[in-house]
Amino acid sequence: MNASTSEPARHIRLTSHPGQQGPTGAPPIQWGAADALARGPIVGSTTSRAQRNVIGTHSGGYGVYRALAVAAGNLVRGHRADLTNTAPTDDIGPYPQWSDAEKIVSIDPWGASVQSVYADYLARGYDIRPTIAVTKAHVHLPEVKQAIAFQRLQPDGKFLLEDGSAVVTKVAVEPVWWLPGVARRFGVKESDLRRALFEETGGMYPELVTRSDLEVFLPPIGGQTLYVFGDIRDLANPMVTLTARVHDECNGSDVFGSDICTCRPYLTHAIEECIQGAQKGGVGLIAYSRKEGRALGEVTKFLVYNARKRQEGGDRADKYFLRTECVAGVQDMRFQELMPDVLHWLGIRKIHRLVSMSNDKYDAITGSGIEVGERVKIPDALVPADAKVEIEAKIAAGYFTDGGVMTEADLAQVKGRGLV
Ligand SMILES: [Zn+2]
Repeated sequence: MNASTSEPARHIRLTSHPGQQGPTGAPPIQWGAADALARGPIVGSTTSRAQRNVIGTHSGGYGVYRALAVAAGNLVRGHRADLTNTAPTDDIGPYPQWSDAEKIVSIDPWGASVQSVYADYLARGYDIRPTIAVTKAHVHLPEVKQAIAFQRLQPDGKFLLEDGSAVVTKVAVEPVWWLPGVARRFGVKESDLRRALFEETGGMYPELVTRSDLEVFLPPIGGQTLYVFGDIRDLANPMVTLTARVHDECNGSDVFGSDICTCRPYLTHAIEECIQGAQKGGVGLIAYSRKEGRALGEVTKFLVYNARKRQEGGDRADKYFLRTECVAGVQDMRFQELMPDVLHWLGIRKIHRLVSMSNDKYDAITGSGIEVGERVKIPDALVPADAKVEIEAKIAAGYFTDGGVMTEADLAQVKGRGLV
């Protein structure tokens, strides 16, 4: 379904105007069209302005580093990527969801295969860049080695090697927002979304309010990384048991092992479940979103940690969400509404085992039409002592549990460590 009936944005003409369309101009984009050529390529290159058909540019926030490299003279302006041998290691799709303009609004389903599907455009000189890359890797994690030592996992030479490394397909995905669809996903008017994006980025993208004809925006935010255990094509087969975790970035725990939350233990538990699932003939998926600190950023996150630990009575589960709201104005800005898009891109129709307790993620996934079977909670033994505040507060707020839910009085008794 293609929704080209979006209402026009309130129009303010400043400096930019629609360019030429035609054989050498900006290709039209028909989001949700049945095939790649009818949909049209996404041209976000800054080198040929007449060919551009989007607002913003590639690589999310890293576009700023590209600007620095140009300014510093390290990068020649107009450099064209040599895409020799960069094609995906695995073919993915197309799946029916790719041509459903309601199912995918925040990534380009053709983003991995631009070299093949837009070969003709590339030959004519269009600077079309992949927004998705697919490769292979071996991942070494101490928790996986520990699981082997405790005989919870056994190397099989295929999914899990003797040295403890897991064999994966990994995929990097940059955001590509079709603004009419994103607005509908959030239940807001497209013109209001455009104006808020324009104003809250300090007027960084005037075309948001001057070019209602440009419907696609490459936002300056982080994307997603996927780690797949088993055959990536099995993700689209609802008969193959899928174990999946959708995880939001938490650098402090994921990388550095901070013990104030459950992020890394839950992530590594999910990886263990994914490896086991693949070994049993299924497939595993970790979808990792760059949304640090509930998409509030790490400075806000650390300010909240201080506020939690310095408040009267110390760090307590009953005040957990309040402290974040005091600093940030909201409890959470992750907005799971766009998260399922990548699952639809992979062709997923059923997640048999969802390794997540988040009600927001569960509601977003099931609300988008993907069936969820079992929900797998983090084993109690993996919750660090100082993370009890977080997990009990979240369970009381609606996170999945197969145990009891604490009362307000009980929550006040769940306390974390002081600042030192
Ligand atoms: Zn965390």
